[in-house]
Amino acid sequence: MASDLWPADGLESVASCPYCDSTDRALAHQGVEDWAFACAPGRWNYWSCSRCHCLYLSPRPTVTTIGKAYARYYTHAGAVDGGRLSALKHRLRNEYWSCTLQTSIKPRLGLPRWLGWALAWLKPHIAEPFGLRHWAQARKGLLIDVGCGNGDKLKLAAQLGWQTLGLEMDTSAVHAAQAQGLNVLQGGYEQLERYTGLADCVVCSHVMEHVHQPVHLLHLLLAALGPNGVLLLSAPNASSHLRHHYGDCWRGLEAPRHLTIPDAAWLMDWVRGQGFECTQVPSYALETAVESERMRRRASSASKEDIAAAKAWLRGTAAVSSSQEDMVQLVCTRGRG
Ligand SMILES: [Zn+2]
Repeated sequence: MASDLWPADGLESVASCPYCDSTDRALAHQGVEDWAFACAPGRWNYWSCSRCHCLYLSPRPTVTTIGKAYARYYTHAGAVDGGRLSALKHRLRNEYWSCTLQTSIKPRLGLPRWLGWALAWLKPHIAEPFGLRHWAQARKGLLIDVGCGNGDKLKLAAQLGWQTLGLEMDTSAVHAAQAQGLNVLQGGYEQLERYTGLADCVVCSHVMEHVHQPVHLLHLLLAALGPNGVLLLSAPNASSHLRHHYGDCWRGLEAPRHLTIPDAAWLMDWVRGQGFECTQVPSYALETAVESERMRRRASSASKEDIAAAKAWLRGTAAVSSSQEDMVQLVCTRGRG
């Protein structure tokens, strides 16, 4: 199916950069296919903007046809029962975070407090989800997750004491979230206009790269923040060191769903230029490295060899600067004026 072409009347050319509007560009990746999910047709070209260094697709699917690319997309499924081992790992992770962040995240193992220290050995094996520390330790209020999928983050934030609201385009994901009792509205990010200045935390995780007008989204995200509000923003980073290693097979590309991929350094400058403060949180590269190895083999699932190859490559890689992190993970707050 991926070898088919996208219908020509469902494509549009992008004449200038969706982030900075520059028309200067160079072809960066040619003939990329949907090697991530092998469900969307087409071969795609990514351009690198000479001014802001983002990547963008042109031609790209139009707003009315992009839905075709989401036929088998993972955030659309309900909770997956991964069996007993996966349930045990889930409880172990929650136990670890509960101990290290001095909170309670369920379901957990329920170990006596004095045994918590014994979990310290798990540290190198457990990646802390971006935002978890903030949700556990900040003063609680209204949290809005833009593009919340089936609501995993909302569920976590709600049990940590946040009042939660999710916005999600996909109807089946909305139903899956609502079936769990979560407060989720079906529709696009434009609904944020109703919450201007009201949110204590806005989460926008891996959504920016999917939308046709990312700067419009960014303006609405920042406008939704209340006086002490915090925006947790994440996306792939166009200057990722993994992209330079894996090239067309870098997991961050994900054509044609990823329409634009911002550059971390430019995005931080842009947020500051809007009068906000902004810091970057380091990201974990192992998962995307494993996925990139899998995509390089055009396989549908990762093998032990993919994991070993990814680990070996990352071990042999020197520490990278923040501008070359695999993902942009920004914590944005209102400037002190
Ligand atoms: Zn640009």
